[in-house]
Amino acid sequence: MPTLLQRYTSQVELIKRLSAERGAEVKPVKLLAVSKTRPANDVMRLYQAGQRDFGENYLQEALQKQRCLAHLDIAWHFIGPIQSNKTRDIAHFFSWVHSVDRLKIASRLNQQRPENLPPLNICLQVNLDEEDSKSGLSLTQLDALIEPLLKMKNLRLRGLMAIPQASTDIELQRASFRRLALAQARLNKAFDLRLDTLSMGMSGDLAAAVSEGASIVRIGTAIFGARQKNTV
Ligand SMILES: *Cc1c(COP(=O)(O)O)cnc(C)c1O
Repeated sequence: MPTLLQRYTSQVELIKRLSAERGAEVKPVKLLAVSKTRPANDVMRLYQAGQRDFGENYLQEALQKQRCLAHLDIAWHFIGPIQSNKTRDIAHFFSWVHSVDRLKIASRLNQQRPENLPPLNICLQVNLDEEDSKSGLSLTQLDALIEPLLKMKNLRLRGLMAIPQASTDIELQRASFRRLALAQARLNKAFDLRLDTLSMGMSGDLAAAVSEGASIVRIGTAIFGARQKNTV
């Protein structure tokens, strides 16, 4: 069995290799280590290996880890579903939120973001396949959110995030990610924006996401091993 550090290093190498295949003019992909359900000690070990960006889905669990690791220079990313009563802590304790899917949540994050912190980086989560089980906006709902979001001075709209329907067929995976990339390109054109973040790709579809232009990949299992079923 490979160790945590061996799995981490091999993901870093794989991402480097896949990034290089896109050519030197495309910015390298950033690895977000998804540490949900993992102990603070594992986060610490990856930090010591050079990892700085960590993704969490469950607020109470994340806050507990943040308290243990407060002395480290970590960028915390919130990537889970957001209920209104969670926005205050998210606005205070995270640098990024990938899972914004309605204006009400964005507006609360904007109001609650402390003025002494830089604007909160946000991605809009898109439900590409319109699955009932997943949160996210449909592609057709995106446009209506852009102008109100741009007025929120404590938020910085960075791009789009999606979790496509699970598939092991790389061509199907690529087709989903391409739809997200095209949606972002279209928004940039229509609203004269410079959205620079496509948060797409997980352990099972990393290569497809990178080849379609991912800028942040969110990797849990391939680094930390399989999660206990009842805690996912
Ligand atoms: C859990 C999770 C991931 C990581 O998934 P793996 O398949 O374990 O790599 C990525 N993104 C989101 C939103 C998640 O909830």
